[in-house]
Amino acid sequence: MLLGSRVWRSYALPVDHEAGRRTVERHQRAVREAVCAGLKAPRRSTVQLTGLLAVQRPGVGKAPRFLTADAVAVINLPGFDNSQMDGYAVRAADLANATPSDPVELPVGAPVPAGTQPPPLTPGTAAPVMTGAPIPDGADAVIKIEEADPPAFPEPGMAATVRFSAPVAPGTFVRRAGSDVAAGDVVVPAGTRLGPAQLGVLVAAGVTEVEVAEPPHVLLISTGSELVAAGEPLGPAQLYDANGAALTAALAEVGCRVTHRVVPDDPAALRAALAEPPDDVALVVTSGGVSAGAYEVVRQTLADAWFGHVAVQPGGPQGLGTIALRDPTAPRDVPLVAFPGNPVSALVSFELFLRPVLAEATGAVPAHRPRGRAPLAEAIDSPEHLHQVRRGRLDADGRVEMVGGPGSHLLAHLAMATLLVHVPPGVAHLDAGDDVDYWEIR
Ligand code: AMP
Ligand code: MG
Repeated sequence: MLLGSRVWRSYALPVDHEAGRRTVERHQRAVREAVCAGLKAPRRSTVQLTGLLAVQRPGVGKAPRFLTADAVAVINLPGFDNSQMDGYAVRAADLANATPSDPVELPVGAPVPAGTQPPPLTPGTAAPVMTGAPIPDGADAVIKIEEADPPAFPEPGMAATVRFSAPVAPGTFVRRAGSDVAAGDVVVPAGTRLGPAQLGVLVAAGVTEVEVAEPPHVLLISTGSELVAAGEPLGPAQLYDANGAALTAALAEVGCRVTHRVVPDDPAALRAALAEPPDDVALVVTSGGVSAGAYEVVRQTLADAWFGHVAVQPGGPQGLGTIALRDPTAPRDVPLVAFPGNPVSALVSFELFLRPVLAEATGAVPAHRPRGRAPLAEAIDSPEHLHQVRRGRLDADGRVEMVGGPGSHLLAHLAMATLLVHVPPGVAHLDAGDDVDYWEIR
């Protein structure tokens, strides 16, 4: 363990270990700078509350919604004075002289179930009232049934009396109209995330429309002539578009709305997809076509973007640029983040470079994964000049064991892992028992 700490700490500084490679930290900063501007002022829209509550549209996922304007209660909450107990609605003045030895005996009036508007209370009577039911006009307190004599309601329609052996303060067990929030008051302020309690109270307070921030709309493009959409028949040398599914889910989890397209390794096709993005696109993310092969469609298409290597494994080849949207009314540049195509590379790239920025912008999830440090269960090797990200999990003794090797195609292993294990640049070998830092990804 001591040895591990020494190895880790002495090499943890971000430095370019090989000419031409960006450090992870440097690329993180570059992505943050490129992406943040477009996310700072999210679009606002006024939406029907019923629409928010309805099943979310595909691609929207569980994007959290934040109010951008105060929501004002339309009605009082509670909407009318009502009983906090099953008991008797009375006029407190009628019980002023009640004592255990000399109880006050009142005739029992018609019972008041929830959902019915009762007639006014006849002075000198007690009306059975159920929890939540309106307090009859003229009544100003409720005595719970357990404190009445007898402590049970008479059969409805039967003439009966009830005795009370103590006075009651006016207002006892009466939930006043507007005591939670009054009509016209702010019920949920701007900036609040709409969770269960907020959605519940908006409905309760009669609000029908709210103004919310639109989740950032991300155009996700899977590139590769070999790709086949999920569920379609698979031909020879073809493979399913795992990145489309994985990155859509990853983006949705951090509060983005996703439009996903698949394009072959043909610059004209990628240009066409980029020429008609969704109107409100805030970010373009691509997978594949950024490395050194012969058919690197993203690289070939985006002449002005930065393409290079980051000193990380997996996820070395990366791209970063902008797309100029020629909307005549509002021309603007939209950032484009290009990830490599190997599925583990794409997801690890997302974790390192995009997830923190998007999470911070949307507030959907904490910006950072929960982090930890624990001793390795086994020895591992790592390319000395790279920040290696391995997939792992904690064993029964709390030690970090690897799940699969370092290969960037091992998506099933990533799916079984619970940790991303970080081996910093400068470290070529760690022994069992050496400490490693990890991020919890599940
Ligand atoms: P590329 O970065 O385009 O060179 O792709 C690297 C590797 O990832 C190749 O084996 C591709 O077939 C694979 N790949 C690229 N895109 C995807 C995708 N969307 N889903 C699954 N595998 C992919
Ligand atoms: Mg490709």
